[in-house]
Amino acid sequence: EDTPRQLNLAIVGHVDSGKSTLCGRLLHALGRISKKQMHKYDKEAKEKGKGSFAYAWAMDESADERERGITMTVGVAYFNTKNYHVVLLDSPGHKDFVPNMISGTTQSDAAVLVIDASIGSFEAGMGVNGIGQTKEHSQLIRSFGVDNLIVAVNKMDLVEYSKERFNFIKSQLGIFLRSCGYKESAITWVPLSAMANENLMTAASDTRLSSWYDGNCLLKAIDTLPPPHCDVLKPLRLPICDVFSSQMLGQVAICGKVETGAIRSGSKVLIMPSGELATVKIIERDSSRCKLARAGDNIAIGLQGIDPSHVMSGGVVCHPDYPVPVASSLELKILVLDITVPILVGLQFELHIHHAKVSASMVKILSLLEHKSGKASKKIPRFLTARQTAVIEVKLDKEVCVEEFSTLKALGRVFLRSQGNTIAVGIVSRVREQA
Ligand code: GDP
Repeated sequence: EDTPRQLNLAIVGHVDSGKSTLCGRLLHALGRISKKQMHKYDKEAKEKGKGSFAYAWAMDESADERERGITMTVGVAYFNTKNYHVVLLDSPGHKDFVPNMISGTTQSDAAVLVIDASIGSFEAGMGVNGIGQTKEHSQLIRSFGVDNLIVAVNKMDLVEYSKERFNFIKSQLGIFLRSCGYKESAITWVPLSAMANENLMTAASDTRLSSWYDGNCLLKAIDTLPPPHCDVLKPLRLPICDVFSSQMLGQVAICGKVETGAIRSGSKVLIMPSGELATVKIIERDSSRCKLARAGDNIAIGLQGIDPSHVMSGGVVCHPDYPVPVASSLELKILVLDITVPILVGLQFELHIHHAKVSASMVKILSLLEHKSGKASKKIPRFLTARQTAVIEVKLDKEVCVEEFSTLKALGRVFLRSQGNTIAVGIVSRVREQA
């Protein structure tokens, strides 16, 4: 079974930066959307008065497919490069993009940050007074442990493919990205135009670009990302993204990404937090059956010998001898987003962790971290405001499966939501009490 490595890729960036156009181009060119389909989208989009959004529509249909819950709930689109089977996470292109983006980035191995290079737009993304969306997104994906970043400097056609403009963006944003903790060597900068199809799948053909740029096109940049770190030797952890039933997989089927370890058909697994055992009947990867799946694979499995009521999204499939920790008291390191109402001790919110969602409250602020040094400040505030970073203690209404971020990133990333808004994002710095 020598399938190409899977690479989960998040596409992030400012609204209207061109994420959907860019994704649509890749998918179209690499065969995931047929010409006929594309034609249909074009027509539909024009009828609805959104001509230029043809590609964006293509992405939206994938989102619908996902909602019908066919197989992978997280991956909406796939394409292959020489080295990778690339899964694009979450459909971009919607205004309420941050939460969408986060559910994708918690699963991603790397990200493409799309920048609108046109005059004024890049500047808006960087924020005139305060933090723009570009900055916010870069900070977020970094706080979720995404180490490798491709910066797609899009809409270069609007600035005459200017080398000076590209270098200006590279230096301005570069300073910020390094301050977020990205290593210089882990950032790839690619000037392109998604609309004009310049430097996306093949080297630039417009001489205004090719005269000064001889680096990788976007596809090549994706293909040369370092392979995701996979811990096949650690005990099995498969967070359950969705539970469903299907003809292929039977009454109790689940899907999700194997984060660590491996899973074999016929083997016994432990379903947490219910603590029930089940037998793996069928494993499906890319809609075909396989005997074994390993860390990094997105799969669907059919389970036997378990009551469906004991299997729920937000749970974790484990090796019977090595159950995942379960806890209801956590220490979190969080980054507060641009909120207008401060976060007070006692605040009730929704905690999202891998695919679990649980009511929680902030019990205590343990420390406030200074932005520049990252060190804890002497004084502990009574509340938290926008853009602060703090370590807090939270109490959950019920127990969830959780790992410290340092142990397993995917099970130690959180986001905090209140009244439909994401108020903070962060990581689990300590599991305070285990069941
Ligand atoms: P999203 O919100 O980030 O998904 O952005 P869209 O892909 O929907 O694009 C927003 C707008 O920018 C649309 O009108 C696109 O046609 C346009 N656009 C996208 N890429 C380019 C580009 O490379 N050049 C130009 N001139 N326009 C672009």
